Amino acid sequence: MSSTITVLGTGIMGSGMARNLIKAGFDVTVWNRHHEKAEPLAEAGATVADDVTSAVSSSDVVLTMLFDGDAVEAVMEEALPAMRSDAVWIQSSTVGLAAGARLTERAGKHGIALVDAPVLGTRQPAEQGALTVLAAGPDELRDRVTPVFDAVGSRTIWVSDMPGDGQRLKLVANSFVLSLVGATAQAIDLTQRLGLDPQLFLDTIKGGALDVPYVQLKGKSMVAGEFPPAFPLAGATKDGHLILEAMEHAGARPEIMEALVGRYQEAVDGDHGTEDLAAVVRAFLP
Ligand code: NAP
Repeated sequence: MSSTITVLGTGIMGSGMARNLIKAGFDVTVWNRHHEKAEPLAEAGATVADDVTSAVSSSDVVLTMLFDGDAVEAVMEEALPAMRSDAVWIQSSTVGLAAGARLTERAGKHGIALVDAPVLGTRQPAEQGALTVLAAGPDELRDRVTPVFDAVGSRTIWVSDMPGDGQRLKLVANSFVLSLVGATAQAIDLTQRLGLDPQLFLDTIKGGALDVPYVQLKGKSMVAGEFPPAFPLAGATKDGHLILEAMEHAGARPEIMEALVGRYQEAVDGDHGTEDLAAVVRAFLP
C-alpha cells in the first residue's frame, strides 16, 4: 500500500479528498497556490508544503486536483522533475481530451507512471469519501492506486488501461449533469413565467418516474435563489467548453450543448462564476 501522498490543489474537492486520505491512514502532504487555503488541513494532520518541489519530492503518490488543464500543466512542469522515479501520478482534475493527452505525454517524458482518474460527485461526496472514480491507466498500477481510490471514493470504475479514457467518460457524465441542471432551470423559469409557483414543478415530479435527487437539490436552490458552491459555475462552464471540443472531435451534433453552454457562460459573464452551477437559472430568469 502507498503510504505517502501529496495532494496538489486544496480547493473544494482537493480539501475533502485530502481529509479522507488522512482518515484512511495515509501520510498526507498538501500544497495550494494560495497557501492559506491549505492551512486548515494542518489541524487535520496534513503537512502543508510551501512549494511544489518540496511537496512532491518524497511521496509515493502525487494527486492533482486543480482547476483545469493549464493549471495542471503549470504545476506539473515544476513537480514532475522533482518526483521520485518510482512515484505514481493520479490526475483527478477535469482537463478534457487535448490537455489530457499533453499531460500523458509530459508524464511519459519524465518516466512517471500516470493514472487518469477524474471523479464524479461534488463537495459533499468529496467530504464523505463517496466519490465515483473513473480510472484509466496501466493494469500493473491498479494495486498501488486502489487504496487511494478507496479512501476518496465509494466506487471505482476502471474504464480502460489508457489514460485519457477517464476524461472521456467524465465529459460524457458532465454533459448529462449540465443538461439536467439546464433543463431544471428552464422548467423553473417557465413555471414562473406561466404565473405559477416554481416549487410546483419540483412537487409535481417528486417521487415519480421523472424524479431525480440532483434535480430536487439544484431546483430547491434555484427556487430559494441561494447558490452556495458545491460545483462552482465557473468549473461547470469550463467543462461545458471541454464537452463541446470533444463533440467536435467526435463528430457529434453540438446544437443542444452549444445552447446550454451559452447560458452557463452568460451566468459566468454576469459575475456568478463562484456560485454553484444551479445559478445558471440566473441566465433564464427575467
Ligand atoms: P476549486 O475549489 O475552484 O479549486 C480549484 C483549485 O485549482 C484551487 O486549489 C486553485 O488554487 C487551483 N488553481 C486554479 N488555477 C491555478 C493555477 N493557475 N495554478 C495553480 N493552482 C491553480 O475547484 P474544485 O471544485 O475543487 O475543482 C477542482 C477540479 O475538480 C476541477 O478540475 C473540477 O472540474 C473538478 N471537479 C469538480 C467537482 C465539483 O463539484 N466541485 C466535481 C468533480 C470534479 P487557489 O486556491 O490558489 O486559487
